[in-house]
Amino acid sequence: MRIDALALRNFRNYDALNVTFAPDCNVIVGENAQGKTNLLEAIVYLSSARSPRARAEKELISFGKSECSIKANAFARNRDFLLEIALAAGRRRKILINKVPAKKGSDLSDVLGAVYFCPEDLLLIRDGAAARRKFMDDALCQLRARYAQALSDYHRAYEHKTRILRDSEEYPSLLDTLPEFDLRMAQSGAVIIYYRARFCERLKEYAGIAHRECSGGREELGVEYQTVSTISDPLAPIETIYDQLRAHQASHAAAERASRMCLSGPHKDDIAVTVNGLEARHFCSQGQVRTAALSLKLADREIHKTAIGEYPVMLLDDVLSELDPRRQEYVLNRIAGGQVFITCCENDRLDALLSGRVYHVREGKVL
Ligand code: ATP
Ligand code: MG
Repeated sequence: MRIDALALRNFRNYDALNVTFAPDCNVIVGENAQGKTNLLEAIVYLSSARSPRARAEKELISFGKSECSIKANAFARNRDFLLEIALAAGRRRKILINKVPAKKGSDLSDVLGAVYFCPEDLLLIRDGAAARRKFMDDALCQLRARYAQALSDYHRAYEHKTRILRDSEEYPSLLDTLPEFDLRMAQSGAVIIYYRARFCERLKEYAGIAHRECSGGREELGVEYQTVSTISDPLAPIETIYDQLRAHQASHAAAERASRMCLSGPHKDDIAVTVNGLEARHFCSQGQVRTAALSLKLADREIHKTAIGEYPVMLLDDVLSELDPRRQEYVLNRIAGGQVFITCCENDRLDALLSGRVYHVREGKVL
């Protein structure tokens, strides 16, 4: 799959942009703060209606403007698609796929897949569990509409339950509504665990291969999904997981009321990553952490390919300059075959490595 053309209006620091892209490698060059990441963000947003960095939709609208639009001509599954997103302050966003309104942001993922890789991802291993959950969520929301729905249901129920528990001292009658939210969290939570477990199985396989190759066969990467303690086998059918989640809720109900915190559910999931049997988070060297993070990201791309049948668009934001020449070369060899967007600064000496169409970005304009 690929993006052939992109048009932005009032998106971040772009007032009006029309640009066409090469089907293979596109190199976005510019000084700091000129709009390189913003351009990649627009492409990621077109693939899922989720931004890798904005906390709220309205952050995407140019300062001082009230609406913005992102449009692209994409090619996937041997067909042309026109993708359009319109955002306006205080209004629901509008998504059109070939001029037909889409109900959910995840409908975009059925057309366009994207794997975004930025320097913060190199911390995927060292960071807390939230970073690894986000990694799973970003990948799975694009791959499975049912997962995206379950995740949004779960978050909504979790927030309600957290508020109820927090306010229950002042308003004890609120606790009467708790069973309803427990039920919803177990229903959506079981779907989340089911998909995460399968995703981690794949991750183990593909990231293992990438890490082995990248380390010259010297290191073995371990990837293990960690979830709620009562789940005996996360690969079990959804009904089984649901029953076991209910059991965990029941045994923690008293503790939740006492601590006034939500203690039961997959919102505390993690992926245990090891290198040669040692917990990567605490015992890996810088280089090992980088190789492991890189391997997870490259595995994400392979999982997309297996699930969808074509490579997703790969976006490398500033990561190449963070890697040593051996890893740079490894990444570039690995990602050949699909469409790639790579950003780098004017003074990076990456030109020798990269053979692609070059775009110079300055102050929200592609020159
Ligand atoms: P770097 O090399 O430092 O990563 P970059 O080229 O990737 O730089 P971007 O992150 O794309 O830079 O940001 C470019 C500029 O966009 C920033 O100066 C930022 O202030 C500006 N910007 C961010 N959000 C908005 C917005 N909503 N409206 C207008 N400008 C914005
Ligand atoms: Mg940037």
